[in-house]
Amino acid sequence: MVNIVIFGKPGAGKGTQAEFLKSKYNLIHISTGDLFRHHIINKTPLGLKVNSILENGDLVPDKLTIEILENEVKKNKKANGFIFDGFPRTINQAKKLDDFLKSLAMQISFTIALEAEDEILLNRLLKRGETSGRSDDINKEKILNRFKEYNDKTLPLKEFYSKQNKFFSINGVGGIKVISERLISIIENS
Ligand code: ADP
Repeated sequence: MVNIVIFGKPGAGKGTQAEFLKSKYNLIHISTGDLFRHHIINKTPLGLKVNSILENGDLVPDKLTIEILENEVKKNKKANGFIFDGFPRTINQAKKLDDFLKSLAMQISFTIALEAEDEILLNRLLKRGETSGRSDDINKEKILNRFKEYNDKTLPLKEFYSKQNKFFSINGVGGIKVISERLISIIENS
């Protein structure tokens, strides 16, 4: 079983690469962002609660995020493995994920960060905002807030996973296929 955490700032290409890895290695792809957006579109109680949080580019409180993640894993107990996209995003989430996976006799195999400069990411997101319908992609201030949330709360995960010898990072700038090859090389050689 292989369980991969893919992280990177907004616009780094997590979702695109996660979809690729999902089909290549037959994994279950869990994107907490997609799950929240699904709730928002369907106006569920959770969706109504988190709507303005996503719109502003803030992080959803850990408790809600961990709950939604755990439910999704439990639904897919027979999976070959998981690709976690956009989770964990805080140290607390990472600790809770470790404990939760341990309780299922599972663990994270490795974590891979897609790296790119803010200016490139900002341009990618504004471009995506033209067609994605995502309100958090059209406003520069909100995008910069998402970068700040990442720097403040998610970046410490590098050290957290490095201590477990599970942290890798790759250059996230280049063609989609080239980046997929970089990911494969880490997955198959580590
Ligand atoms: P991006 O990485 O481009 O910001 P995502 O779809 O991963 O896109 O996340 C969109 C939003 O969903 C985040 O800005 C945040 O509000 C919420 N979100 C997603 N994952 C988490 C998480 N693990 N913890 C807290 N909030 C999250």
